[in-house]
Amino acid sequence: MTRPLVIGNWKMNLDYVEAIHLTQQLGVILKNKPLEHVELVVVPPFVDLRSVTSVVESDRVDLEVGAQHASQHDTGAHTGEVSVPMLQRLNVHWVLVGHSERRAMYAMNDEVVAQTLRTVLRHGLQAVLCVGEELAVRESGEQVDFVTAQLHAALAGVEEKSRPLVTIAYEPVWAIGSGLTASTEQVRDMTEHIRTVAASLSLDTVRVLYGGSVNPENAASLMIEGGVDGFLVGGASLKAESFLTIGQVANDCYDVKR
Ligand code: PEP
Repeated sequence: MTRPLVIGNWKMNLDYVEAIHLTQQLGVILKNKPLEHVELVVVPPFVDLRSVTSVVESDRVDLEVGAQHASQHDTGAHTGEVSVPMLQRLNVHWVLVGHSERRAMYAMNDEVVAQTLRTVLRHGLQAVLCVGEELAVRESGEQVDFVTAQLHAALAGVEEKSRPLVTIAYEPVWAIGSGLTASTEQVRDMTEHIRTVAASLSLDTVRVLYGGSVNPENAASLMIEGGVDGFLVGGASLKAESFLTIGQVANDCYDVKR
């Protein structure tokens, strides 16, 4: 089993003071109870990044830091955007690409997702490609074709040297922030399908995460029966205890499955 990856997406929550506080809390708990096998990443709002990376460095917190989005451009007249080189200067090592909220609310189409993914990879950062269907697509039974198309649009032609930098997060849109978790069968079926499509695009060893109302109670079954390599966590990542309990579950599942 590959090393589990648990990512906390703070979305547009927590100002920089609150972000410092949460990072310090995570650091204290992790010092007392380190997660031996799990790679943990937090993804704060842009304006918190400098504060969070400073705490991570000064307190030696065993966490990496990511951004929720980045521009597909490196520089220039793109008001309101943040570039990958700017993130890199802040010791940000991860970028979420094509989160469903960006796709739905900020007109991020498949082409922009693909361009952004290329930019993130060109600079050597880890890219978490988010894919997943809306409820209407699931109800019409077209989720497999839908996700396949998203994967092809984003991943076709990724250079060999960049492939280890790609993670895929399956996030059914209807499960995000809704309290409705996909069933373990739904997660397993889609995860297996994603691995098959990824392998056909030469991404044989890609990590596949699940996101959508993950919490400390459902994490174990999603991981073991759903067959994922970890989680992209929204709401439950805003509290140190719930986020790290999910991390602990992933850690224990790794021990069991190994
Ligand atoms: C997310 O933001 O990607 C997410 C999965 O959110 P939540 O865990 O709150 O459903």
